[in-house]
Amino acid sequence: MNLLSRSIPTQILIIEALFRRLNPNHRIHKDLREEYNRRKKGVAGEKQIDYYLEFLPPEQFYIFRGLRLICDNKAFQIDTLVISQKFVLLIEAKDISGKLYFDESYKQLVCINEDGDQQVMEDPLEQVKRQSRQFVKWMGLKLDVPIEYLVVLGDSRTYIDPRSGPKYKDYILHAHALEEKIQELACKNQKDIFQEETLRKLTSRILTCHNPLSIDPQKTYQYSSADIIKGIQCPECKKFGMERANQVWECPHCKATSRDAHKQAILDYLLLIKPTITNKECRDFLGIKSRKIAHRLLNSMNLQFTGTNKSRIYYKPKHG
Ligand SMILES: [Zn+2]
Repeated sequence: MNLLSRSIPTQILIIEALFRRLNPNHRIHKDLREEYNRRKKGVAGEKQIDYYLEFLPPEQFYIFRGLRLICDNKAFQIDTLVISQKFVLLIEAKDISGKLYFDESYKQLVCINEDGDQQVMEDPLEQVKRQSRQFVKWMGLKLDVPIEYLVVLGDSRTYIDPRSGPKYKDYILHAHALEEKIQELACKNQKDIFQEETLRKLTSRILTCHNPLSIDPQKTYQYSSADIIKGIQCPECKKFGMERANQVWECPHCKATSRDAHKQAILDYLLLIKPTITNKECRDFLGIKSRKIAHRLLNSMNLQFTGTNKSRIYYKPKHG
């Protein structure tokens, strides 16, 4: 059963909004492009894993994706957590391409990309082991729960050097081998560990304690509100400055019209400037004078809000 779905990482949404609204000559553009490509690749790898997890019998497995929990004031993330009555499985997704050599003695991963460049990184198996220790501690159960962990490569073309330490064979695999591997783990762990009630309590506690990362975009990406282009972007020619006429937005450059071009603009404000918006801030950002129209536009977005009339504050949606 799918209990927590993966949402588009906030960083991707922020970078896409920056691509729309940051002056193209801004110094951070190159770094943004690199980070964006890397994150998109990561998402594609996770999608591969999600695809193969769909084959598992939903009545036997509870699946949480993109989980973030806090234990002893420290946050830890689990790419994918699978729980059954018999065991717990943590999956760390890796989106590295090229050739990989896992060095057991030094607990490092040596990665050679298509251009022959070598990069050394932390052994992902150590990473997922650390997460499982944190998760066991977080659960705080007196039960002896079998904990399994895997590192799954999202890109099926990634080559694993067979000279890698032999222990990795059991833990590192490509996404297409995942379903079979989980069945194998189910055969290995046949005893019921969790009673239905304990399992129900645990899964609902996980959902309650899930604490998605919230980042300060201006600090993270090194821009200021003044760098952000205001106004409504034309969905056709991508220029800014659409104007309101007869309940639609019209582009003064290419004459295209749109009914809801303000939605992207308001979301961009919430992503890039700050996570709340008032009627006045909305008018200023969209370049409109009417309080009434701003009220209608904000209300049309079904955002959560607090306060009434002039003191009303609207909040950024949880995802995006
Ligand atoms: Zn236009």
